[in-house]
Amino acid sequence: MKKNEEFVITIEDMSQDGSGIGKQDGYIWFVKDAVIGDVIRAGVMKMKKNYGFARLIEVITPSEHRVLPRCPVARQCGGCQLQTMDYQAQLRFKERKVYNDLCRIGGLKDLKQEDMEPIMGMEEPWRYRNKAQFPFGTDKNGRIITGFYAGRTHAIIEHEDCLLGIEENKKILEIIKAFMEEYRADGLEPYDERNHKGLIRHALIRKGFATGELMVCLVINGRRLPHREELVKLLLTLPGMTSISCNINTENTNVILGTEVLNLYGPGYIIDKIGDIKYRISPLSFYQVNPGQTKKLYQTALEFAGLTGGETVWDLYCGIGTISLFLAQKAGKVYGVEIIPQAIEDARTNARLNDMDNVEFFVGKAEEVLPEQYEKNHIAADVIVVDPPRKGCDPRCLDTIIKMSPERVVYVSCDPATLARDVKYLGENGYELKRIRCCDMFGQSGHVETVCLLSNQKSKSNTHVKLSLSMDDC
Ligand code: SAH
Repeated sequence: MKKNEEFVITIEDMSQDGSGIGKQDGYIWFVKDAVIGDVIRAGVMKMKKNYGFARLIEVITPSEHRVLPRCPVARQCGGCQLQTMDYQAQLRFKERKVYNDLCRIGGLKDLKQEDMEPIMGMEEPWRYRNKAQFPFGTDKNGRIITGFYAGRTHAIIEHEDCLLGIEENKKILEIIKAFMEEYRADGLEPYDERNHKGLIRHALIRKGFATGELMVCLVINGRRLPHREELVKLLLTLPGMTSISCNINTENTNVILGTEVLNLYGPGYIIDKIGDIKYRISPLSFYQVNPGQTKKLYQTALEFAGLTGGETVWDLYCGIGTISLFLAQKAGKVYGVEIIPQAIEDARTNARLNDMDNVEFFVGKAEEVLPEQYEKNHIAADVIVVDPPRKGCDPRCLDTIIKMSPERVVYVSCDPATLARDVKYLGENGYELKRIRCCDMFGQSGHVETVCLLSNQKSKSNTHVKLSLSMDDC
């Protein structure tokens, strides 16, 4: 086939980034904006040896799951890859992806899709994000605008009401824009990265869904915000406004936040709750963006951990200790390990905030801290929970888990392919996959979270050894 040549194809699958996938005589085509079940006319764009990219020219027969995207700029934005698919079909797609990866990459030939517990979807897959970052710029008439970056460029498409974000975003952005226009002559220009001039870069907005507390942090290319009292006064007209600050970022890079925060109003943080646990969130803190689904995910992790009160548990890749604190409600002792020192500071603060003294946190790589603690201090574990980044667990981490031989491993994953790879490895080393449950944390996008329970097959003999040891002790 040649460039621009047209052909008809049925879309059978979808890639992680939401492109439709169809096959023709074993050759694979990726077609953006096509939905599973569509019969389409496509035009060749680019061809590689085993796969190619085509553009959607016409939907001949639409999929029964095709819906009109709710957001008028869904296509330009690219943040929501699945908006043209109804929500139930999105959930099926995600479950199938996890199932396929576990079978193919995980080598679980006997696994049936019914063996997986039903995916936990959202009641309302819109307006679920508690955090948003909007860049400021100007349109061709010089008017101040805010929205999102178009594709991979830094041109801003004006759009203040992302349907995944909170309704307050729009109101907050209107206040900030009016404030900037009013005092523009005093230096409140939007930042322009081409010449590294202008002051206002981004607005970071966060909300505690359980508490209603709102945070606004204006990222500025400078150390001073002119007329700051006026901005505080305007923002305080909004109910729930708890923390107002500036973040200083004078670097000419793509990184949104700098490291220094200038407090303008309030305690410098907001509080939110997931279940019974309180979390303190400052502008630089990591915090899960969908707290409703996070609660379901962590409750599942807690259930899979099967704690009865006295267990020693390790929470590897613990971030700000969200899972650690959840587990600490039911465990004897929880140890958390995380590579980012700032996150561990937050974790310790959150443990104190909740009066929990049965948690201890380590800064470092899971694959270094765990072997070190195991070899030097002979620490043990009844349960190990892991929640690694997309690349999955480091082999040294997995090898130490196998050596420590906990009864149960609970694997929380944001990437089905690396989950499947690690489940396979643990499977070859004595851990059987017992339970699998997906959770949709990011409706309209291609991402899926999964929790797996792996059980130690050697544990019967372990119990036996332990028992006979204690008999000897007697
Ligand atoms: N469970 C946490 C976040 C998990 S995200 C929560 O819910 O809040 C994965 C975390 O792993 C990130 O915080 C990241 O900083 C951390 N991380 C990445 N590589 C790591 C490593 N090698 N060792 C320990 N932590 C790591």
